[in-house]
Amino acid sequence: MALDKDIVVLVGGVGGAKLAVGLAQIVPARQLTFVVNTGDDFWHLGLRICPDLDTIMYTLAGLVNPDLGWGLKGDSVVALETLNKFYGVDTWFRLGDKDLATHLHRSRLLRCGHSLTEATRRMSRSLGVDAALLPMSDDEMPTKIETVEFGELGFQEYFVKYRWQPVLKSIRHAGCESSSITSQVRSALRGADIVLIAPSNPWLSVAPILAVKGMRDTLTSLDVPIVAVTPLIGGAAVKGPAAKIMSELGQEVTAANIAKYYTEIINGFVNDTRNEPLGHSDLRTIQLNTLMKTEDDKRSLAQATLNWIESWGA
Ligand code: GDP
Repeated sequence: MALDKDIVVLVGGVGGAKLAVGLAQIVPARQLTFVVNTGDDFWHLGLRICPDLDTIMYTLAGLVNPDLGWGLKGDSVVALETLNKFYGVDTWFRLGDKDLATHLHRSRLLRCGHSLTEATRRMSRSLGVDAALLPMSDDEMPTKIETVEFGELGFQEYFVKYRWQPVLKSIRHAGCESSSITSQVRSALRGADIVLIAPSNPWLSVAPILAVKGMRDTLTSLDVPIVAVTPLIGGAAVKGPAAKIMSELGQEVTAANIAKYYTEIINGFVNDTRNEPLGHSDLRTIQLNTLMKTEDDKRSLAQATLNWIESWGA
């Protein structure tokens, strides 16, 4: 059953893209909007790189590298290797040859004066993505990670160069005080019948979205189901540093603590069948298989989540 509802999804990269593609299979594209984390974005080699926007865009366009979950399938890294060989340029941030076309084109659109929202609209339409992809903000809001070993690191240094191994002390969303929610994000949220928070990393992917000025207020003013899906299964992250970060922040690694983290915003939580139930909580909760290995898993989780939310009205 496909719902006749407008759905907005707050989403990061690879983990979020799995639910995104499941939703895209069952919800008409005109009813789907993805509000995407841009805290990972940075200028590199003179280009604006937006890893999460590209992951969602490539995934929905059917172009993503299926082994990695990011980047383009069938890509190579000749340009990067040549930059290194000829000019000694650092290559810890992998940029594929085909992928470079995206960064070149985006950077050109931005330099021509287009907003990131407009650049993303044009690019995703060119790739045949009919759902709306909206950057969380048009303002640059780079995530900074304070670490024990290296002091403050840029997000990609922490995540890619040091492979999220440094011990995290705190996270800062630079520029958030002067940021603003875009009119496109605000009107998508105000028109939404359902808001979902994908099983993206709460600290690295969702927190930057919530840190955009006006985002929390807009979300808390809504009177619709706002439902987060757990990124933890069996007390561990499926991939990446979510569990490590929780421990480093002194929290027990449980789905209950993820729900607590979102407590001011959500009214529903999709827990995994392998996790402990949340216990006494005012939240509506359901336990589902949230592990999305196959395309079927992705569609089933999207469908079960929407069916459950629909049953609230019954
Ligand atoms: P990133 O920006 O590329 O790191 O991707 P996200 O922030 O969107 O997703 C990372 C999170 O997705 C991690 O915390 C994972 O635990 C979670 N994740 C990845 N795959 C799955 C899955 O199949 N099911 C669930 N429930 N969570 C997942």
